[in-house]
Amino acid sequence: MAAAETAKHTYVYDFAEGNKDLKDLLGGKGANLAEMTNLGLPVPPGFTITTEACQAYLATGEQPAGLAEQIDTHLAALEATRGKRLGDPADPLLVSVRSGAKFSMPGMMETVLNVGLNDESVAGLSAQAGGNDRFAWDSYRRLIQMFGKTVCEVPGEEFEHALDEAKRAKGTGNDLDLDADDLRALVGTYKKIFSKHTGREFPQDPREQLDLAIRAVFDSWNADRAVLYRRQERIPADLGTAVNVVAMVFGNLGSDSGTGVAFTRDPATGAQGIYGDYLANAQGEDVVAGIRNTVPLQELERIDKRSYDELLRIMATLEGHYRDLCDIEFTIERGKLWMLQTRVGKRTAAAAFIIAAQLVDEGIIDLDEALHRVTGAQLAQLMFPRFDLGGAPEVLAKGVGASPGAAVGKAVFDSQRAVELAKQGEPVILVRRETNPDDLPGMIAAQGILTSRGGKTSHAAVVARGMGKTCVCGADSLEVDVRGGQFTVGGHTVREGDMISVDGTTGCVYRDKVQVQPSAVVRYFEGDVTPETTEDPLVAAVHRIMSHADAARRLRVRTNADTGPDAARARRFGAEGIGLCRTEHMFLGDRRELVERLILARTDEERQAALAALLPLQRADFVEIFREMDGLPVTVRLIDPPLHEFLPPLEELAVNVAVAQARGEDAAKDEALLAAVRRMHEQNPMLGLRGVRLGLVIPGLFAMQVRAIAEAAAERARDGGDPRPEIMVPLVGAVQELETVRAEAEKIIAEVRREQSVEILIGTMIEVPRAALTAGQIAEAAQFFSFGTNDLTQMGWGFSRDDVEGAFFWRYLELGIFGISPFESIDREGVGRLVRIAVDEGRAARPGLKVGVCGEHGGDPESVHFFHEVGLDYVSCSPFRVPVARLEAGRAAVESAGSDSR
Ligand code: PEP
Ligand code: MG
Repeated sequence: MAAAETAKHTYVYDFAEGNKDLKDLLGGKGANLAEMTNLGLPVPPGFTITTEACQAYLATGEQPAGLAEQIDTHLAALEATRGKRLGDPADPLLVSVRSGAKFSMPGMMETVLNVGLNDESVAGLSAQAGGNDRFAWDSYRRLIQMFGKTVCEVPGEEFEHALDEAKRAKGTGNDLDLDADDLRALVGTYKKIFSKHTGREFPQDPREQLDLAIRAVFDSWNADRAVLYRRQERIPADLGTAVNVVAMVFGNLGSDSGTGVAFTRDPATGAQGIYGDYLANAQGEDVVAGIRNTVPLQELERIDKRSYDELLRIMATLEGHYRDLCDIEFTIERGKLWMLQTRVGKRTAAAAFIIAAQLVDEGIIDLDEALHRVTGAQLAQLMFPRFDLGGAPEVLAKGVGASPGAAVGKAVFDSQRAVELAKQGEPVILVRRETNPDDLPGMIAAQGILTSRGGKTSHAAVVARGMGKTCVCGADSLEVDVRGGQFTVGGHTVREGDMISVDGTTGCVYRDKVQVQPSAVVRYFEGDVTPETTEDPLVAAVHRIMSHADAARRLRVRTNADTGPDAARARRFGAEGIGLCRTEHMFLGDRRELVERLILARTDEERQAALAALLPLQRADFVEIFREMDGLPVTVRLIDPPLHEFLPPLEELAVNVAVAQARGEDAAKDEALLAAVRRMHEQNPMLGLRGVRLGLVIPGLFAMQVRAIAEAAAERARDGGDPRPEIMVPLVGAVQELETVRAEAEKIIAEVRREQSVEILIGTMIEVPRAALTAGQIAEAAQFFSFGTNDLTQMGWGFSRDDVEGAFFWRYLELGIFGISPFESIDREGVGRLVRIAVDEGRAARPGLKVGVCGEHGGDPESVHFFHEVGLDYVSCSPFRVPVARLEAGRAAVESAGSDSR
């Protein structure tokens, strides 16, 4: 306990004291610097101030007690190691102060280099660099610039402007042409800018510089752009950042110095090799700023073979140690290589699969680990069609890839126009500055959506994702002129009707029509290619990892399908049955007329006649589906949605009747229909006459459906098939509802069974909160449960599912009320709690009760993990998401097995 107490108050760790598993405390950068230090790699010495110190500072506005002393101690140790004192006029130690949170937030927070320089130590630095005055004054001006901007909020443009002026005066465009005198003069100008904005002189005390820089890094955690980034990436707001204080090494000391970045494998394709860039005589910020062109890393072999060879050795060590692709930042100071950073590198979705499979082949990781390293989101990305970039299409702009896919169409600038053109069969891309609920019809009509403002949580992004529509947001180089019906970008004008192509995965916007390629991964799932018939390493990698996921998972994966072709496709994608066959659509089209007759029936005979006409049609539907899913369970849900959806809209009918009456025509049929529509009109149809309520109110409706299912199964069995029907009753809230339906259904099944024996289960959806809360009672009457998490979310939150995503979810996401729509990913605490209660109480009442889920969440990666945890038997999702669910079910199984054994 005493040790834990002390550890809690340790706010500063030397690099030699940390390791890569301490990311929570030391941030990603600090933890990895520690790991490299302990591997004996050449890391400049330094120390890390913990995220706990940052949290304490952000909570109180004061540095926590003890922090200043601990910094003193570690700084003294650093000075001793380097044999120099911070800012010593004769021989200064300089340090960099760098942020580093647990999760990488590229470019979001702050860094200050060259801390420790002042009017005196600049001379000492020059002496250290062998009398290189130019270098010393350049370093000083960089400090004032970075410190001014980061720590004291001096507008960065003022410094840039002064630098440009100095170059102009010298008649050059290149920083390197400025000599020591120019830079000394520039330092004078910079200091004036600094004091004009801050009302004080540039701090000359090195320790004050250090303290202010540390504080600024802490504060940068709450800078607007960092807050926004965290919200978009769903990084918790309370983690705080660590601060790394590192002895400076210089890549800008001459041609024997330089800086670079490297990957141990190609992060785009996963191919093994040396990938990276090098820039001689430069510091890291020059690479980022793109001031001069880098050279491929291979060139370093020619420039400095010793450093190159050492770098390759280190890269191999890091890959072996991290057992993964690493990315690296390094600096060479006068022929001496220094490692400034490493981390497990980001990669494309395809590379994630390929690298994981490669590492298995190389014996570095096992298949469980490979499965852990890929995600369903990556697999989903690989299943979208992609643009064929072979012809190097012209990129007009780049925004945020907000909803994946490749969309091609004519640019249109207002919603109504999008609808008009789409009606004429034209593909369109709706281009707006930003969207609002009025744009919904246009968004629905468009192939894709492009906005110049907003990010991943903007209205356009949220709604497009909900619709599964391609969307690029925040392409801020576009000047969108909605009135003028055009946008301009980099001198180009795109007018209404011009073709554009948008890539919702990469955020790229292309001029003209770019060819779309089908996904190799989908072709694999379709059975068009196999690892044996293609050289594509992606297909082999996906095959290998999917096979392992299938072997590992405990959850079965079914599909939501209500036609034969959908069922067949889902089966090819690996579906192990149908978890939801919605029967509503079977009543549309030319059958609508029969449904109208059923609803309007005034006598039993009329109703029976309508039902008798529907029966053979329904039976034929089920025969086809049972055939496609032969040998696998098929859950057929009795009709669910509100009846008004089957009748003409009230306004339209009223107009027809009025017109007919005015003309003196016979409107008897429409009048009867209008009366019925009026009678059935509901203010809130989603909470009205739906589901089981409908079955109990319209005599014979459910009975007809049950008979169609039983007879179809009997027909299949007679023909040698193996049908496995399950009848599911929707929207049950009380066991009595289910009992009533079940009693009638069992009678019909028994009648059919007299001729042909087929086993048929009867179960219920759990989608009304009351059903979840009384699941113990309901389980007495149900042979299975299937969670309808769409309705359970709607009714659990009181959110109208058809309205809220377009109306206000973007605002909820912006405010961080939730990080993702609860219709997209299960709300674990609320709706998830209802699920848990129902599973536990249902199984307590009926041990071994089969339980699945058929709401949209069944195909959402995060939610699949939740359903694994609560012990469901299966998830069911749309055919296209079946592979994603299989993969995530496998990941959930290996991850929970891993944590059980820990
Ligand atoms: C559900 O509510 O989750 C469900 C699957 O049913 P539907 O979406 O058809 O209401
Ligand atoms: Mg439902």
